[in-house]
Amino acid sequence: MNSELELGLERRIGKRSAAVIDKHLGITTVGGLLDYFPRRYLSRGELTPISEVPLDEDVTLIARVVSNSTRPMRARRGSLTDVVISDDAATASSRTTGAGLPGTLKVSFFNGFRARAELQPGRRAMFSGKVTRYGGSLGLTNPDFLLLDEDPDTPGMDPEKLAAMPIPVYPATAKLTSWSIQKVIATLLDTVDLATLGDPLPAGITAREQFLSVSDAYRLIHVPQVPADWQRARDRFRYQEALVLQTALARRRAQLAAEEATARRPAADGLLAAFDRQLPFTLTAGQSAVGKTLSEELARDSPMNRLLQGEVGSGKTIVALRAMLQVVDAGGQAALLAPTEVLAAQHFDSIRRTLGPLSRDGLLGGLGPDSVQVTLLTGSMPTAARKQAMLDAASGTAGIVIGTHALLSENVSFYDLGLIVVDEQHRFGVEQRDALRAKASKPPHLLVMTATPIPRTVAMTVFGDLETSILDELPAGRAPITTHVVGLAEHPAWATRIWSRSREEIDAGHQVYVVCPKIGTDDDGDFSPGEAEPSAADLDEGNGARELASVTGVLEHLRDEPALAGVPVAPLHGRQDPVLKSETMASFTANQTKVLVSTTVIEVGVDVHNATLMVILDADRFGISQLHQLRGRVGRGGLPGTCLLVTTLEPGHPSRRRLDAVAATTDGFELSQEDLKLRREGDILGASQSGGRSTLKLLRVLEHEDTIARARQDAQQIVAADPALADQPGLAAAIDEYLNPEKEAFLERG
Ligand code: ADP
Ligand code: MG
Repeated sequence: MNSELELGLERRIGKRSAAVIDKHLGITTVGGLLDYFPRRYLSRGELTPISEVPLDEDVTLIARVVSNSTRPMRARRGSLTDVVISDDAATASSRTTGAGLPGTLKVSFFNGFRARAELQPGRRAMFSGKVTRYGGSLGLTNPDFLLLDEDPDTPGMDPEKLAAMPIPVYPATAKLTSWSIQKVIATLLDTVDLATLGDPLPAGITAREQFLSVSDAYRLIHVPQVPADWQRARDRFRYQEALVLQTALARRRAQLAAEEATARRPAADGLLAAFDRQLPFTLTAGQSAVGKTLSEELARDSPMNRLLQGEVGSGKTIVALRAMLQVVDAGGQAALLAPTEVLAAQHFDSIRRTLGPLSRDGLLGGLGPDSVQVTLLTGSMPTAARKQAMLDAASGTAGIVIGTHALLSENVSFYDLGLIVVDEQHRFGVEQRDALRAKASKPPHLLVMTATPIPRTVAMTVFGDLETSILDELPAGRAPITTHVVGLAEHPAWATRIWSRSREEIDAGHQVYVVCPKIGTDDDGDFSPGEAEPSAADLDEGNGARELASVTGVLEHLRDEPALAGVPVAPLHGRQDPVLKSETMASFTANQTKVLVSTTVIEVGVDVHNATLMVILDADRFGISQLHQLRGRVGRGGLPGTCLLVTTLEPGHPSRRRLDAVAATTDGFELSQEDLKLRREGDILGASQSGGRSTLKLLRVLEHEDTIARARQDAQQIVAADPALADQPGLAAAIDEYLNPEKEAFLERG
């Protein structure tokens, strides 16, 4: 293995430095510190000119000392050293800024013995600190500084070269500055035996891509001579990261595929055949094609592991249900895991309705050949009902079990679980998938469905252990959804127009959804427990002062709204009693309730064909994917849908861009790309990142599509040729480290 990388830092940089690095960066090994890459690089030409230093910001600048004087402080003991600095005439910044006038800046040090001694007139130094106002003019107080002439890497260097040399900027802390880190790493590079480092990249790939060797890459990413150096080094490490990740995923795919599953072959004349005969519509071409793939994979004796992506309303549920019926025909059970209780209940009702006479309620006993028992199992069910449901799952009486997280709990077991369907995957992680798989004696088949389509590279990383199918067409007769941004800031009168518009829909026999970002008037932005996800509200702060629309507030308002006089309105949110929730949904489904005022509990999957208008209040509080999901609830029954994105933000506000994006297109792929751009990388990968806790360093899932795609192909070939990675010890070690970053630190300490 790569013993050099796993070596304790003190062995290479000494106890004292190692202790400092451990304390401030939590890094204890040679490999850990080598992998502590600069966040960015400054070229001397990019430094802040003194004439432009901004107040209250952290700046890095290079300047020459003009004067240095020290005096005792009057009120306290100690001394004050005032250093006046001026833009260095040799820096590109002062040459290129139009003014041409080098600025001067006062830098003050309290008890600055080192500053007093070192910052002599004429010396050049780099300063880094926060700009403050000091006695009427801008200045730096106790900044960090580094004498450039004494930079260990630059003695006697010719000025041209020095000007071109990028300055690495490390993620630093207040106590440990970027250049302290730089100096320690320089020491490390001198003492480490880079030549012995194992290379995670196969030689063939390094040659093909003309990558730097691993030792050159480490050297140049930390001590580049010219910008091209760090760029080449980064290219290599970025690819390496992609390959490690993709090989880990390819290996997991291969391992899963090598497991033995029970083949669930289609029956010639079973439930599925009967179901297809009674289906009131024809499947779309996509549904048929995906259905065929699933059918074939279920019939194999290795487990299916498939991701089904599809646009909102593309009909994923039918595809999943047909797969479940094939498994039931073959004598197995199927479980459908939904992210919320509302959605689980909704699936339960609609699947039983869709099955019609093929669905059987529990009382009649044993599993007959011509019907299947569908069972609901959620955490909030009354104890007796839940016990019965668990009994039915364990005895095999229930052919299809629909539930929430409760299905994952330890005391739920199945008689013969053959297929797991995870709906609206974005809320479930790999761990939860694995917890469910563990419920079958042999690995079950797995079908994961996303709520909205996701970009290819995200699918390749977040769901990289799954094969992908896509439903890219909507069933025929699907009416288009028109989306409008309703800006109340510029058109206050539209506030009442929303409700008269709602009345028009209701008079035409249709129904209306009203979605609010909050439940009550006095809570702050609760998206109902267990259902919150990083939303737009997390992305922009600063408009928290507004009173946001709440379910209870809007309900009250609508009671007095003349346009809706006499119209049955009902609230729905996550804090309600589950019985009340399902009664409310039932009343809305039956077209008794005309207006449903809710939180995002209806975000996913809820399916009421008669609803044609969706009003989203304070729509700027929601993320793009959420809005797209929400509006997918209307326009389902062949009736054209309308979605109103209501906002009180001014037209130029950055958050309104999201609304404009949603109004501009109904293409889910385009929108999710847009959405993910606004999120932090960690949110994209989330907990579902292939079991690994480490986050990506250089790879950006959206930006580096080519790199990821190439790495995936390479990984596939590597694993196919050498599943145990016997010929790639460097790669195997890097994967271990990626999947289990705590391990070495643990060994080191233990
Ligand atoms: P999603 O992919 O968003 O989960 P659903 O599975 O909820 O979509 O399907 C949306 C609606 O479309 C459901 O009412 C379903 O019965 C209907 N549907 C599904 N497939 C077809 C089809 N081929 N033709 C007509 N309607 C369909
Ligand atoms: Mg769905």
